[in-house]
Amino acid sequence: MTQEHQSKIPQATAKRLPLYYRFIKNLHASGKQRVSSAELSEAVKVDSATIRRDFSYFGALGKKGYGYNVNYLLSFFRKTLDQDELTLVALIGVGNLGTAFVNYNFSKNNNTKIEMAFDVAEDKVSQEIGGVPIYHMDDLEKHINGNVDVAILTVPSAVAQSITDRLVKIGIKGILNFTPARLNVPSNIRVHHIDLAVELQSLVYFLKHYSTE
Ligand code: ATP
Repeated sequence: MTQEHQSKIPQATAKRLPLYYRFIKNLHASGKQRVSSAELSEAVKVDSATIRRDFSYFGALGKKGYGYNVNYLLSFFRKTLDQDELTLVALIGVGNLGTAFVNYNFSKNNNTKIEMAFDVAEDKVSQEIGGVPIYHMDDLEKHINGNVDVAILTVPSAVAQSITDRLVKIGIKGILNFTPARLNVPSNIRVHHIDLAVELQSLVYFLKHYSTE
């Protein structure tokens, strides 16, 4: 996303962009020309008032009884999400979770790609998984030099901060952190934290305490 867009669109709206994009892309592929906020709301499970507010930031003005123009939205999302530009990703820690991500490799997103992976375990280093080479952590600085913008962290949490420090030093701009560790980074580095264990626990908690049935 460009600086210009970042300063205009609120962060919560920006986070929903990829969700909207995926749905609009499918609509476009099925030949649909327009979509109402109610249809969108049902499909992406975001309430329609939020959708209307989000879309007003995109300059997309839906008309009553007509809805939004699918072509317009598609080209807006493509441009805003930099779909024509490939962002290379490095994955650190090829354990159970890391291996699954490398195999999956986000192949339905055509603008992100896990280009290389790193580990310290001798039996993993020098292997390839789904065409992605696994290098030793000692060679991190050698392989990542300005070519990779994003790192996925699937290492034990005890080593997460020291690895993060190295990643920051070599110019990584964004980190998707799957470890439970809270990372300290300079303000120009973006960290998105996904703690699967916490998410699962909170889901179970909500089922128990907020269930409507
Ligand atoms: P997961 O948590 O992904 O299911 P796991 O239980 O298989 O993984 P972990 O102990 O969490 O294993 O380690 C994840 C991966 O991180 C392992 O492949 C391990 O070799 C690797 N790893 C451990 N320390 C480091 C390090 N300092 N740098 C890079 N990789 C590391």
